[in-house]
Amino acid sequence: MAEHVVIVGSGPAGWTAAIYAARANLNPLVFEGAVTEENRQQGTLPLGQLALTTEVENFPGFPAGDLSGYFKTALDEENHYLADMHHKQGVSGPELMNLMRKQAANFGTRIETDDIVEVDFSSRPFKLKSLEGKEVEAHAVILATGARANYLGLDSEEMYKNRGVSACAVCDGALPRFRNKPLIVVGGGDSACEEADYLAKYASKVHIIHRRDELRASKVMADRVLANDKIQVEWNSVVDEVLGDDENGVTGVRLKSTVDDSTRELEAGGMFVAIGHTPNTKFLDGQIELTDKKYAVWTVPFRTNTSVEGVFAAGDIADSYYRQAVTAAGTGCMAALDAERWLAAQGI
Ligand code: NAP
Repeated sequence: MAEHVVIVGSGPAGWTAAIYAARANLNPLVFEGAVTEENRQQGTLPLGQLALTTEVENFPGFPAGDLSGYFKTALDEENHYLADMHHKQGVSGPELMNLMRKQAANFGTRIETDDIVEVDFSSRPFKLKSLEGKEVEAHAVILATGARANYLGLDSEEMYKNRGVSACAVCDGALPRFRNKPLIVVGGGDSACEEADYLAKYASKVHIIHRRDELRASKVMADRVLANDKIQVEWNSVVDEVLGDDENGVTGVRLKSTVDDSTRELEAGGMFVAIGHTPNTKFLDGQIELTDKKYAVWTVPFRTNTSVEGVFAAGDIADSYYRQAVTAAGTGCMAALDAERWLAAQGI
């Protein structure tokens, strides 16, 4: 029998959609993603990007303070370790995601720890196939697989991931290996500026490597970076090679000029890549309309409808602009309400 609604993805959008769908008696089934090495490498494990961050200070409802007692009562015992590791300041990304997952489960959401790898939206009920070979049918689908950080694609970058190469300053910047050392940030957008600003608190110096001679970032972010004595922009440059050794991990980078092909080396204890994100839409294989950057398109203003009737999208999969936990949760709620109303209109 076909499911009322299948939700694909397990960030704030997916779990909020599940909470609303479960409370609307739609008995949702969530595919939260598989725990595979490939997903670990590319940052697409269950619970999404927030599970890769530390403090979340801007999700409403979690003020600064020691909330670990509350987390212990709210989470299953197997997750009490999160409360034990608690930093006594508000909520962490992994805590927040486990709280959302638990809240969805409390209302009867069924959860599969598996990836959806193939969909057929050409006829209804829709068909979805998982990595483990499960096949499900669904009257409505909510896509909430989010986005992941881009990397440069160098072999040497791959080799030093987790040994000095990161795509998340907020997650990793405070680690001892990066403290009081020169650090590299690659990119010229708001993310690169934000990361450089953040890292400058810990590093001895931050070099922003940008391939052009002006930043893409908003003026306020760019001005802040350019005014910071600890941050230096290396204009018209790209990282040609990440340098390092087994003992120390990253020790520097080789830069190549985009103007004259000349190269030079910079000493660094780490490299943070901030060159944008890629939405996790490959499994859709062109079955819904995507933007030129492969984000899902919302086809009706102020609704989460996609180009396929009965398929809705929520969170970063359709949002390259706000990309916040709270906006993802908001559109997750919208997608569940849109799906509920659409199913009711179909008499399902
Ligand atoms: P972005 O604006 O797309 O910028 C990506 C940067 O990476 C660009 O400067 C680009 O260079 C560079 N880049 C891309 N591919 C590269 C490659 N292969 N090698 C070297 N450099 C490469 O991405 P973002 O900074 O992640 O921002 C995404 C969105 O989120 C934006 O709308 C941004 O405003 C928003 N955001 C806002 C805030 C905030 O307001 N606090 C913080 C973060 C992000 P080019 O400039 O040459 O293209």
